[in-house]
Amino acid sequence: MKVIRSVAAMQRESAAWVRSGDAVGLVPTMGALHEGHLTLIRRAKKECGRVVVTIYVNPTQFGPKEDLARYPRPRREDLALCRKAGVEVVFAPENLYLPNHSTWVEETALSQGREGASRPGHFRGVATVVLKLFNLTRPTRAYFGQKDAQQVEVIRRMVRNLDVPVRLVIVPTVRDADGLALSSRNRYLSPEERTVAVKFASLLQEAALRPADSARWLRGQLKRVAGLNLDYVELTGDRLCAAVFVGKTRLIDNEGLRR
Ligand code: AMP
Repeated sequence: MKVIRSVAAMQRESAAWVRSGDAVGLVPTMGALHEGHLTLIRRAKKECGRVVVTIYVNPTQFGPKEDLARYPRPRREDLALCRKAGVEVVFAPENLYLPNHSTWVEETALSQGREGASRPGHFRGVATVVLKLFNLTRPTRAYFGQKDAQQVEVIRRMVRNLDVPVRLVIVPTVRDADGLALSSRNRYLSPEERTVAVKFASLLQEAALRPADSARWLRGQLKRVAGLNLDYVELTGDRLCAAVFVGKTRLIDNEGLRR
């Protein structure tokens, strides 16, 4: 497995891959890899001759009061997991922005509301870094998790609007046995907080079975859970999306309505 840290080396590698004609699968991550990420990687391995995993905690998608500095960075474990999964290349740059960076990708419709409202500038950072990663790795297919539902909507729109030659593959949310959606941020949770987070996941699942009043019902239930602060519950199309704070940890989840 090759670990690439510079932009120039990544560009050389992806140019060679394009010349070889092999299908390239890209799995963009911020590291602290878990079974959710590994599911994306396994799917990419199945569908593409070569797989590149990117590990980059993208500063431009974090707000000033968010957890950029304390975001977990277990680099050795991450690389070991990628090696075990049969990844060809890990692209783990120190920094992807020049000091004079002044060009941004902004999706202006689907990025409004939900995460966009709670985290101003978040999707501008996401869209910009994802397009940079597409340009650097030149994937045939790129793999994203349904866990980040609005991110999927925004990237899908960006790819269509900007004619990016990549096929998006969306992978269903991977959950722990207790129902909690896997997330790198789960490792912030104390055992007591984890119990509250599991309650959040189970109420969301239950709400998805109540298509007539899912959002109203879930809002009412979540407000009654001790130790949980509701950020939003929103029904978007047929998908119920929610964000909560458990202690200082912000968790998001979503589920399709079961009609
Ligand atoms: P992150 O490292 O949190 O930026 O996530 C990298 C990719 O993994 C994104 O496309 C996420 O949507 C996806 N992902 C994260 N958690 C899960 C999960 N529990 N199930 C499926 N995909 C996930």
